[in-house]
Amino acid sequence: MNGTIRVGNLFGIPFYIHPSWFLVLGLVTWSYSSGLAAQFPQLSAGLALLLGLMTALMLFASVVAHELGHSFVAIGQGIDVKSITLFIFGGLASLEKESKTPGEAFWVAIAGPLVSLLLCGIVTAIGVTTAASGPLAAILGVLASVNLALALFNLIPGLPLDGGNILKALVWKITGNPYKGVTFASRVGQIFGWVAILSGVLPLVLFGNFGNFWNLLIGFFLLQNAGNAAQFARVQRKTHRFDSRRCSNS
Ligand SMILES: [Zn+2]
Repeated sequence: MNGTIRVGNLFGIPFYIHPSWFLVLGLVTWSYSSGLAAQFPQLSAGLALLLGLMTALMLFASVVAHELGHSFVAIGQGIDVKSITLFIFGGLASLEKESKTPGEAFWVAIAGPLVSLLLCGIVTAIGVTTAASGPLAAILGVLASVNLALALFNLIPGLPLDGGNILKALVWKITGNPYKGVTFASRVGQIFGWVAILSGVLPLVLFGNFGNFWNLLIGFFLLQNAGNAAQFARVQRKTHRFDSRRCSNS
């Protein structure tokens, strides 16, 4: 990703932040602190802002934990993790190469959503066992639902999402061909991309409603990256064919 800023290492993995992330941090902080201030009028404006910022940072820590989930499983398979990046749509763990088998690819893909589900469970358990109330309970509630949403959204079965990688591994397993897996899962990803775009465009065109504008952005992101995945598969297949042809000629 262009223009990312390196902020350090996480367990030896280079950690980057894209400038677009700061915009999201600002928006999320503002949204949470105004939400808390409205819900708990006894909070001072400064404290509401601080709690909003803390919630936003914990939310991003949840995203990083999700990416670390993918990364640790990949590292366990001998795959190098080149970087973890936070950007406007969330996080991205960049792996050096594909898993060797569909089973291994499946575990890399599902590890992130499993971490998010686990965090949702832990946060919910903390809320219940400590009988938290007031702003703390509200913050725990937000964290639990954000982690649940992270797991469920990423399980949508189209590339570039985790669910797409799971679908890819499945098709790969059935057909024995990793490229067929990528091509199929990226087609499905493109369909989800178009659905997201339409769900943003139709209310806008029909009712002048900007409510689903975010869907439009997500849709474009999915479409672009699903296309990239398909193109990458085509290039790889070509290279591979070229290599094998060269081998058989020599
Ligand atoms: Zn993921």
